[in-house]
Amino acid sequence: MNELSRTLDVVVIGGGQAGLAFGWHLQQHGLDFLIIDEQTRPGGNWRNYYDSLQLFSPAEYSALPGLPFPGDPKSYPLRDEVVKYLEAYAGEFRLPFQGGTRVMGVAQKEKVFEVRCDTGATFCARSVVVASGGFSRPFTPSILGLESFSGTCLHSSAYRTPEPFAGQRVVVVGAANSAVQIAYELAGVAEVVLATREKIRFFPQRILGLDFHAWLKFTKLEQTRWLSDQSTPVLDTGKYRNALDTGRFQRRGMFQQVLPDGVVWPDGSTTKIDALIFATGFQPNLDFLTGLPVANRSGRVAQHNGVASQVAGLYFVGLPKQRNFASATLRGVGSDAGHIMPLLRHHLSRDCPPNQR
Ligand SMILES: Cc1cc2nc3c(=O)[nH]c(=O)nc-3n(C[C@H](O)[C@H](O)[C@H](O)COP(=O)(O)OP(=O)(O)OC[C@H]3O[C@@H](n4cnc5c(N)ncnc54)[C@H](O)[C@@H]3O)c2cc1C
Repeated sequence: MNELSRTLDVVVIGGGQAGLAFGWHLQQHGLDFLIIDEQTRPGGNWRNYYDSLQLFSPAEYSALPGLPFPGDPKSYPLRDEVVKYLEAYAGEFRLPFQGGTRVMGVAQKEKVFEVRCDTGATFCARSVVVASGGFSRPFTPSILGLESFSGTCLHSSAYRTPEPFAGQRVVVVGAANSAVQIAYELAGVAEVVLATREKIRFFPQRILGLDFHAWLKFTKLEQTRWLSDQSTPVLDTGKYRNALDTGRFQRRGMFQQVLPDGVVWPDGSTTKIDALIFATGFQPNLDFLTGLPVANRSGRVAQHNGVASQVAGLYFVGLPKQRNFASATLRGVGSDAGHIMPLLRHHLSRDCPPNQR
């Protein structure tokens, strides 16, 4: 049964940075919309990331449209500052947010979407924006013997602080920012090896006094497909490379097998370890779209610049590299949403009778 007596223009699924930035654009256009999120408060998954997480982009390049990130523009905000900013953002613009509501399924009937929720409610809308996050399903590679490991094995999404690993031998898997940050932090209390398939690509956080993100903006490089195709570099003020060079933690090529109490390296040698931490990335969780043709032949989301290829009126925001290198970042979601807006408006005016507002 339709929870509201009207058909909305847009339902946004997800109230993290992507859903909130999209909500801001919808509001600017005077559209009738609702942001639905299973969490009770806006802000998305930032509150679930590890305690010491610090943004890799400075405050001046970490804002959503319409509200600067508070504090020193050159500083690198901490996780909790991001959560606070996003909650304040939703409040500042009074974005319509329905928390504590998980979307279970989306169907399309005669050009109207029915968004079915775990509360028993169904919301009807002429279009749907999926902002449910590109980092919600932790990805762990399958490795021979992994299930036999008797030590602690976790994904970086479940890692919070180094204390539980004090005095242990830990292997961290991954070559991107999270892996290096976690390895560095853990090395203060534990013996750490970072296992990577390829060499770590360090990139200076600041060049000629300017932050990496300022250069990306200045050169317009981040808008290119070329940059999207590159693997993510580890941004470094010098601290991480120095830690590696001075042996604070070690790097080795990816191990080939896991034993009940250790790992087997490519040269056949073994190391006994207590814990394995996989900082090996995430995939989007789009189970609620099952039933709509949203996957292409390779199983990826069938979309172009955020517009679903096979479902009219369905849009995405916040998917990694959906439009460019910045698509799944604080600074990128606003412009991606802005790019979609004229197309969404065109869809509403072409395929649907105007809403009674
Ligand atoms: C460890 C880590 C570090 C990062 N560091 C940075 C950084 O320094 N700078 C930067 O700009 N970006 C960074 N990112 C990337 C990105 O900015 C964050 O992942 C951010 O949280 C993504 O925001 P989002 O709104 O797209 O998704 P999320 O924050 O994941 O929010 C999605 C929301 O959708 C909701 N949802 C999902 N499914 C449903 C459903 N079925 N029904 C209802 N609600 C649903 C969730 O509850 C959640 O609130 C980092 C990511 C990770 C994982």
